Amino acid sequence: MKFSTLPLSNEMVSTLAKLGYKDMTPIQAQALPFILKNQDILAQAKTGSGKTAAFGIGLLHNLDVKKFRVQSLVLCPTRELANQVAKELRSIAKFQHNIKILMLTGGESFGKQLGSLAHQAHIIVGTPGRVLKHLNKESLNLSNLNTLVFDEADRMLDMGFIEEIEAVLEYVPKERQTLLFSATYDDTILDISKKIQNNAVFVRTTQSEVANEIQEKFYATSNKVDTLVNVLATYRPKNAIIFTNTKLQAKELAQDLVEKKIDALAIHGDLEQYERNDVIVQFANASTPILVATDVAARGLDIKELSMVINYDLPHAQETYTHRIGRTGRAGAKGMAITLYESYEEEKVEQYNTQDREFLDTSSLSKTGVFELKPEYVTLVIEGGKKDKLRAGDILGALTGDAGLAGKSIGKIDIYDRQAYVAIERDLIDDAHKQLKNTKIKNKKFTVWVL
Ligand code: ADP
Ligand code: MG
Repeated sequence: MKFSTLPLSNEMVSTLAKLGYKDMTPIQAQALPFILKNQDILAQAKTGSGKTAAFGIGLLHNLDVKKFRVQSLVLCPTRELANQVAKELRSIAKFQHNIKILMLTGGESFGKQLGSLAHQAHIIVGTPGRVLKHLNKESLNLSNLNTLVFDEADRMLDMGFIEEIEAVLEYVPKERQTLLFSATYDDTILDISKKIQNNAVFVRTTQSEVANEIQEKFYATSNKVDTLVNVLATYRPKNAIIFTNTKLQAKELAQDLVEKKIDALAIHGDLEQYERNDVIVQFANASTPILVATDVAARGLDIKELSMVINYDLPHAQETYTHRIGRTGRAGAKGMAITLYESYEEEKVEQYNTQDREFLDTSSLSKTGVFELKPEYVTLVIEGGKKDKLRAGDILGALTGDAGLAGKSIGKIDIYDRQAYVAIERDLIDDAHKQLKNTKIKNKKFTVWVL
């Protein structure tokens, strides 16, 4: 579909053509008709699908250039992403003279931003922490805001920005258009949509959602540990939860795996609450790829983007099986569920033998002998949290500013009352640790250590 089918100005359409945008991408074709009608949308589409232009065209189309007030705010999780968005908006904005787009992100001089703000702007692209700081200091006024955009909302929530976002919302008019863009779609995103949007239209381009898409495979084995390692070596999941039936087995299996250089942590009923929390945080932020769990301990665990569930032990009931494997293949992603069983369990496993499940021989698995599984991130613990008024933006600011890390090297940030956990790319952990130890966050030094 051509952009010319939309009620856009000729200038806008020809500017888009100059950028090489003739046809709309699928997300643009689906979202723009609603966006141009001022409706709220919750959009999900994979990266590189043209989401920026989808909201960019919408907010630029609605802009009143003569009115020199901030009319749109785009919130992004990191400075780098804000930069990309601002760049794309500026190219599209060429269709009209004098559109002012201003970036407000952490890691840049606050004073300079104050100066730019004094000259007013039409569109602000920023990160939640810095935008909030300007709102608190009254250097930014959003009382004329028409459109609020959350780009990569899922990542913003992952980075712990929920408090900043809620605080920003206090400063924006209730009557507004709110556009939410996310690569993933789950309960957290739905909750936030319900909170901040009004009758949002759900737009997605990845088909066949909702129903989980899980491949289920069963392997008969006489050596479960070996088969488990071969399963991991064959399918190379990004992460996996392995279920055992007892606490002791969970503990022992995690140890066995670590000895085999497969990074794993166990979660079971014998852990203290704080230990349990450390484990969950590390698994959820990709600081450990494998979690070995009992059913009770895994209850209520909501891990996004879980690639694989492995039943190391056959569950006692089919219901438990369904519950276990339902943790993978969420949000339209493909999931895989592997079940191991021994020959004496053949009768018990028969009840699972349906058409859509595969029963396989272990000979089809690769036997690498050497196989290492390392995490993507390592978790840094900061001995300060909500009680110290630490916010994700402060931590991100310290890491990307003084400590010199790129926003993309920082993963999930979880902030609790007295502690904060930050996932840092594995290779950068020593640097980040050293730097952060010597850096003040909110004018205070905190104890920092590697989990
Ligand atoms: P997303 O935010 O969905 O990851 P982007 O908005 O960054 O994706 O867009 C990815 C690329 O596609 C950019 O280089 C952008 O310039 C280009 N692009 C966007 N819309 C179109 C279009 N209609 N036709 C061709 N290229 C487009
Ligand atoms: Mg994008």
